[in-house]
Amino acid sequence: MGEKQMLMIPGPTPVPEKVLLAMAKHPIGHRSADFSNIIAQVNKGLKWLHQTNNEILTLASSGTGAMEAGIINFLSPGDKVLVGDNGKFGERWGKLCQAFGLDTEIIKAEWGQPLDPEVFREKLTADTNKKIKAVIITHSETSTGVLNPLEAINKAVKDHGEALIIVDAVTSLGATNVPVDQWGLDVVASGSQKGYMIPPGLGFVAVSEKAWKAYETAKLPRFYFDLGKYKKANAKDSTPFTPAINLYFALNTALELMQEEGLENIFARHQRLTKVTREGIKALGLKLYAPDQYASNAITAVATSPLNAEDLRGYIRKTYDIVLAGGQDHLKGQIFRIGHLGFSCEREMLTVLAVLKESLATLQA
Ligand SMILES: *Cc1c(COP(=O)(O)O)cnc(C)c1O
Repeated sequence: MGEKQMLMIPGPTPVPEKVLLAMAKHPIGHRSADFSNIIAQVNKGLKWLHQTNNEILTLASSGTGAMEAGIINFLSPGDKVLVGDNGKFGERWGKLCQAFGLDTEIIKAEWGQPLDPEVFREKLTADTNKKIKAVIITHSETSTGVLNPLEAINKAVKDHGEALIIVDAVTSLGATNVPVDQWGLDVVASGSQKGYMIPPGLGFVAVSEKAWKAYETAKLPRFYFDLGKYKKANAKDSTPFTPAINLYFALNTALELMQEEGLENIFARHQRLTKVTREGIKALGLKLYAPDQYASNAITAVATSPLNAEDLRGYIRKTYDIVLAGGQDHLKGQIFRIGHLGFSCEREMLTVLAVLKESLATLQA
């Protein structure tokens, strides 16, 4: 039944029919008035989703391109940065910063545990010469299903006063409250194939006034991802280069659907999905990988020991055509991950739980 696959990974996420149909068109000219109108509408929707008046720049890239843009536009070689690393994506921030020659201090927590705001506070308080230029973290760590305490870490950054807070919100935006203006988040990176309910191919970067000031003096090389170019074009409802036109059609429709549902309802739905999933997993006698207080609303990681998670995943894929995500790196075989981000509902979670029950019984028989 190849046409009935259920995709339950944390990106790409399922796409609503209405969004798929919006894309099924010939591209139009990107310098046309019609396309300018779409850019204007999309930009309004993006600000609504980010709860911000800040500029949001849209790139033809995956989420990692948005992360890279979030670094190279605001920092200079040798700048000191603190990077939170408690999973695959935090680790990616670290590698990215090192690749661009930043003086990178990695602040680790164990995979499956949240970052500790106190460690950030100590480092920031000790930095009386204001050498730390940015604190860089992953909000929802997709590899483990941990939601990091962004608000608390950001408070320490605000008390420092100088450092920028740079956030990977790829699996928190559109699932969890990320009030960009209220919290004063300087750079927020995200990608289209996660909470946006559209296919992969767009990256987004929200940029605060404070970050634009840093942009003026930042010296890392930039060209295609020079956000100044995108800002200038945005002011004329345009783009500096050829945009992913059909993905804009999709995004425009997806943002309309999201606005019809409302932010509060979107967050509440993701919270319900998380609760249903976690309660169900507990009832099945499996172990949740992330603690309850730090559970991501987008993704639930489940430990299967002594059963190999890959055997379970393979069985479910073959028997039910449901695709779950595996563990990454050293967690391969130890955990599987259920995506409940974007276009997801309770029915799918209940299906997965029922399927898990049957599969466990069969594999453990
Ligand atoms: C998916 C994801 C990204 C971006 O990955 P791409 O493959 O470049 O889109 C970044 N951070 C997190 C937390 C993610 O889940």
